[in-house]
Amino acid sequence: MIGIYKKLPKTNCGKCGVPTCIAFAFKVKNAQLKLQDCPYITGENKESPTKTIDGTLDDNYERVSIELEKEATCANFKEVANIIGGNYESHNGNEVIKLTMMNKPYEIRKEGLYENDSYSHDSWSKIIIYDYIRRKGNAPLTENWVTLGHFPNTASHVKAFQRNAEEKIADTFNKNTRTLKSRCIEMGGIADSGKMKADYVWRFNLLPRVPLYLCFWEADEEFPASCKLFLDKNAEAYIDIEYLAYLVEKFIEIFVNILR
Ligand code: SF4
Repeated sequence: MIGIYKKLPKTNCGKCGVPTCIAFAFKVKNAQLKLQDCPYITGENKESPTKTIDGTLDDNYERVSIELEKEATCANFKEVANIIGGNYESHNGNEVIKLTMMNKPYEIRKEGLYENDSYSHDSWSKIIIYDYIRRKGNAPLTENWVTLGHFPNTASHVKAFQRNAEEKIADTFNKNTRTLKSRCIEMGGIADSGKMKADYVWRFNLLPRVPLYLCFWEADEEFPASCKLFLDKNAEAYIDIEYLAYLVEKFIEIFVNILR
């Protein structure tokens, strides 16, 4: 994935259909897209990379997750669970942190990440959850909502985010708010009165301490339906912004039911 990412222009223009170059690199790595789907790939970069100087791409990707795994599993589980909003349990000396990522349950054990009682081989989930653990959210959530553009170095993400997330939701659920409501419930959303004057406001926990707020305005005679997504002002204390953009993108894919 790192090798693929290096070949991209890193402008996050979204023309490939995903909001960021890093998300695109994940998809190429997972064979969901081809490198050539980025219109800016030219010359020798058009060839799909299979090797990097350090070995295969898979090796690199796996290596990052293994390095993070060592760090995350050495953490003080009891202390960390409390900070990151996980549930700490200990049975016969075996410690575990239980948490959900995008409404899906995971367990972090001293041996690594587990899904449905089996060791997870999904490097993407491992990297994000291990990074979430090691960051230990060094600032409390503020309950102040900001758009993605609030965070540093996200200017290039913003347009793609509007097109691939907010406009997609507005188009999909225009005049179909009953389906919007049932999707919100299915995805673990909680109706939130919030501070926003929207027709519908829902809160989702991408991770326990990484809330996403969805505000939806129905169409009227003057304006089409619209949607705005907000994050906590201190989200960056809990998750790398590139990972956050990727999580939001995955969330939207699932939310509008276009998961490939
Ligand atoms: S098309 Fe996709 S991969 Fe290419 S520069 Fe734009 S966001 Fe990055």
